[in-house]
Amino acid sequence: MPDTIAYSELVAMLRGAVELIRANQDTLSELDSHGGDGDHGTTMVRAMNKLEEAMNAAQGESMKSMLSDIAWAVMGVDGGATGPLFGTLFMAMSDSVADQTALDCPAVAAMFEAGLAGVNKRSKARVGDKTMVDALVPGVQAVRAAADSGATVSEALTQAAQASKEGAESTVALQARFGRAKNIGEKSAGYQDPGATSVSLMFKGFSEGVCSNA
Ligand code: ADP
Ligand code: MG
Repeated sequence: MPDTIAYSELVAMLRGAVELIRANQDTLSELDSHGGDGDHGTTMVRAMNKLEEAMNAAQGESMKSMLSDIAWAVMGVDGGATGPLFGTLFMAMSDSVADQTALDCPAVAAMFEAGLAGVNKRSKARVGDKTMVDALVPGVQAVRAAADSGATVSEALTQAAQASKEGAESTVALQARFGRAKNIGEKSAGYQDPGATSVSLMFKGFSEGVCSNA
């Protein structure tokens, strides 16, 4: 169990997310079929394919530049909200990593907090609006809380995966106030938000990826 993550652990984390999103493509599209246009799984998998391509091409670069390459690649995925939102997340994460070659748990927390701040600049959606933000905020907060209590990166990511899963589950009861699902008003309640589900899978993938690499 690493106390810090370096380039290869970051790659393992990201691969974990790519795999888990791919494995859940149909579920994600099905969730998007209730209030949206049913494409979220396909779009997320396209984003993960782009992420993987950029990551493979970046072999040996710094963590910062790999994250930036990933951000540009994901940002370019057309077809709605997902590319810009997840692209922004990775771009802001890259911006927060200086020339560090290893990130300890507080640095990982700072990286995710920067990512969230980037998403908060791009979208006005906040917790309770039934979007990906409902899973992102608790995930990021859990990494910070774990860092503050002296946890390792893998412990922090395990806690983030759980918190983010609960955040995604909390969207079932909510009405969408952003995105396409907003158009169906109260009918959007009763289904888990697809974007929040993707974020929770991403944290779970990060956690599984970093543990499998340990
Ligand atoms: P689209 O709705 O454009 O087809 P996707 O289906 O890929 O995009 O993604 C839908 C998800 O995007 C939603 O479940 C929600 O979590 C997220 N989303 C949509 N609009 C916003 C927004 N303005 N702010 C934050 N998240 C959003
Ligand atoms: Mg959609």
